[in-house]
Amino acid sequence: MSYQPPEKLQQEAERLLKEVNPRASELKPKERMAIPPQTIPEQDPAVRRHNMNEVALGYTEEQARLEAMRCLKCKNAPCIEGCPVRIDIPGFVSAIAEGDDDRAAQILKRNSLLPAVCGRVCPQETQCQEHCTVGKALKDRDQAVAIGKLERFAADREREHNGGAIPGIQPDTGKKVAIIGTGPASITVAADVRREGHAVTMLEAFHKPGGVMIYGIPEFRLPNDIVEAEIEGLRRMGVEIKTNFVVGRTRKLKDLIEKDGYDAVFVGTGAGLPRFMNIEGENLVGVYSANEYLTRSNLMRAYERDRADTPILESKQVAVLGGGNVAMDAARSAFRLGAEEVHLIYRRTEKEMPARVEEVAHAKEEGVEFHVLQNAKRILGDEHGRVKAIECLRYELGEPDDSGRRRPVAIEGSEFTIDVDTVVVAIGNSSNPLISQTTPELKVNRWGNIEVDEDNRSSMDRVYAGGDIVLGAATVILAMGEGRRAAEAINAQLRDEG
Ligand SMILES: Cc1cc2nc3c(=O)[nH]c(=O)nc-3n(C[C@H](O)[C@H](O)[C@H](O)COP(=O)(O)OP(=O)(O)OC[C@H]3O[C@@H](n4cnc5c(N)ncnc54)[C@H](O)[C@@H]3O)c2cc1C
Ligand code: SF4
Repeated sequence: MSYQPPEKLQQEAERLLKEVNPRASELKPKERMAIPPQTIPEQDPAVRRHNMNEVALGYTEEQARLEAMRCLKCKNAPCIEGCPVRIDIPGFVSAIAEGDDDRAAQILKRNSLLPAVCGRVCPQETQCQEHCTVGKALKDRDQAVAIGKLERFAADREREHNGGAIPGIQPDTGKKVAIIGTGPASITVAADVRREGHAVTMLEAFHKPGGVMIYGIPEFRLPNDIVEAEIEGLRRMGVEIKTNFVVGRTRKLKDLIEKDGYDAVFVGTGAGLPRFMNIEGENLVGVYSANEYLTRSNLMRAYERDRADTPILESKQVAVLGGGNVAMDAARSAFRLGAEEVHLIYRRTEKEMPARVEEVAHAKEEGVEFHVLQNAKRILGDEHGRVKAIECLRYELGEPDDSGRRRPVAIEGSEFTIDVDTVVVAIGNSSNPLISQTTPELKVNRWGNIEVDEDNRSSMDRVYAGGDIVLGAATVILAMGEGRRAAEAINAQLRDEG
């Protein structure tokens, strides 16, 4: 759909709401389905590609009510089946339809600790919304009830109105738990364990907590102050956070238990080790891993050129290799960092891209040039060792491979070059090997992911793990689900020990 200015969307919503609101409670399913899906207001693509502000502005009250009224409150609620943490979706959506935003937020918080984050970055279209009866009846997944956008609306309302109340905490138990990493898995464990009255210390390698939500996902998709508000909530619950603390270097994992007296340790260190293509020219000046590129931009604020301590190259023509969310984030960040041309190079077709459909659409609207069925063969440098072009090959699709996607096959002799001064490699991440290398007792699989049982217990006594370090690069909501399970097991262990 083409860009629509927020004022126009709001006028239309006000008009429609006046029409349907008087009969809101007695609307028949057919009438609910006739309410048009509400388009979320966004910054104009031509403007936003030059700023770091959030792209989606969020539903207005009128839009949220209308969107919520589209829900049929199905008895069997198939949407819940598609939600990894089983939020009562019809419950919170009905509360919004009735104008009770506080109740909506309370229902959300029963199952999800980070609704403002999940409402923004969860792959809703392949989870809850994929199962929505409205989308199915209208034969279009994009016309399902916009559950994620409504989740964001309710969470933002609560934060703006109540300032984020903190949950009740049991009296002090005298037990202490160390949590390594501060991403969504660790945040979930910290809250759930602290609630039981245990002392909690989070250890973070970076100088700022929040994991990928802070250093990876850009502000224009997930503003840092939303994540910071959640972290502040943990601090107010009494959770201690130690930054610049690299477990494996500052202190060994085993020492946390044997010398520092922690009763349990949770490892939530994520998958932050970038993969490279292993092609000629990857060590030229101007080649970045997406991790480095995004970390410099988000965490070190390289986009504030006159203030940043860790600058980033002044790129004009950028090639990004990959087709996932990380690639989209890198490509869109490149414009915001001053690039004039951004080329996204992906070896399959758009259909196979792992990125969220919405992010692909946003990248295109902002002017990212998509080169599908193409891949980098080598990176070419000038006499100073700086990137000057990228040589690519064209591909066609063969039979499906292990991932179920059709295997890309190179077309011999199809080489061509694109002039670029920067290349960002965004083809995936593996788990960071530091903890497993310095903790031989910890069992890992052949990809370096920590092996755990169904309660997220590792092979080491008192050590639990979850999130990307167990699953490989996954999603925020799955990391939170793992955290919740691990916290339950830790709480049970500490309860049994009395
Ligand atoms: C650019 C990007 C975009 C993404 N977009 C989305 C999206 O749109 N939707 C979605 O659902 N998911 C997205 N993801 C994936 C999602 O962010 C991750 O699945 C999720 O953050 C994993 O959570 P986690 O708690 O396992 O660890 P992480 O968020 O990775 O956090 C791990 C933390 O541990 C710290 N750490 C690592 N080693 C040590 C150590 N030895 N000592 C101390 N601390 C350590 C790290 O510094 C980090 O802060 C994206 C990922 C990236 C990189
Ligand atoms: S499946 Fe869709 S219509 Fe049915 S309860 Fe869930 S959100 Fe509402």
